[in-house]
Amino acid sequence: MIIIMKPGASRSNIDHVIGMIEEKGLNAHLSEGSQVTIIGVVGDKTKLAHSNIEIAPGVDHIVPVTESYKLTNKKFHPKDSVVQVGHVLIGPGTFTVMAGPCAVESREQVLETAQAVKKAGASILRGGAYKPRTSPYSFQGLEEEGLKYMKEAGETAGLPIICEVTSCHALETAVRYVDMIQIGARNMQNFELLKEAGKAGIPVMLKRGLSATIDEWLNAAEYIVAEGNSNVVLCERGIRTFEPSTRNTLDISAVPVLKSKTHLPVIVDPSHASGVRAYVEPLAKAAAAAGADGIMVEVHPCPEKALSDGPQSLTFSDFDKLCRDLAPYAGLAGRRFP
Ligand code: PEP
Ligand code: MN
Repeated sequence: MIIIMKPGASRSNIDHVIGMIEEKGLNAHLSEGSQVTIIGVVGDKTKLAHSNIEIAPGVDHIVPVTESYKLTNKKFHPKDSVVQVGHVLIGPGTFTVMAGPCAVESREQVLETAQAVKKAGASILRGGAYKPRTSPYSFQGLEEEGLKYMKEAGETAGLPIICEVTSCHALETAVRYVDMIQIGARNMQNFELLKEAGKAGIPVMLKRGLSATIDEWLNAAEYIVAEGNSNVVLCERGIRTFEPSTRNTLDISAVPVLKSKTHLPVIVDPSHASGVRAYVEPLAKAAAAAGADGIMVEVHPCPEKALSDGPQSLTFSDFDKLCRDLAPYAGLAGRRFP
């Protein structure tokens, strides 16, 4: 439940209510807006049954929160969150473009890609060092060596880096190199990994599971935030449907739905959503128009030679054109880009 304080509630009114909540062994989460203060309660609220909190000084009214996700819920925190990754702010007012190869293949490949995507307008470099491949015989990633190349490439280009982790072991290694970790679609409900990512405290981008509902996805994000890490960004990357023309179906409606249910920033990945290079640009524009906080796009120096996801990867010049064509859409949506 959430407790809405009266507009003129004093500091001591607020502290008193927090004290009543904590006295019962529950957690209170304060969200102070310019007009009203909201206190969210996490835990078994039946413990507050006889507390008469609704008549405590300064309390306006109480609203039950029926959803099982609380800390990620917009009712708990009405103001949209900003997640900082290095010097980059993901959230309202900005349009963050993350770009880079599906997989780190060599030092030269990521150094070259980092320079090209930075020049075009990207603000975060992506690249997978641990690859969750459908076949065990496909390229699995360079692991720690790949993280080292990514760190060097990011530092050289002046871009923070994001890399996927596929296990708790990979997470332990990755936190030494990266600015943000990615938990991929296949691990969205790997609860041990989510908890460890929460404890690690590093910004996390959580991709939507292949067949996950928005409710399941927000509960997965709640696992991370419940460990004390509120630096979580959601990424819609397409879902499984009956339609085979695209690799997945981009659920563009997830963007406004998430915006109404959560305060966490939302990124769209048109590359994995479509699987087709030609569809990346229109879907990226749709993401900006729908209110996304940014996109993640796969870019490769030579897509036909890519060890993974070549068909959906953009060349440097495709990516440069994408950024130029996208800028007015981001501007119309009230966002700064590049
Ligand atoms: C990726 O971003 O490289 C990736 C594997 O994405 P997803 O988890 O969305 O399939
Ligand atoms: Mn990929």
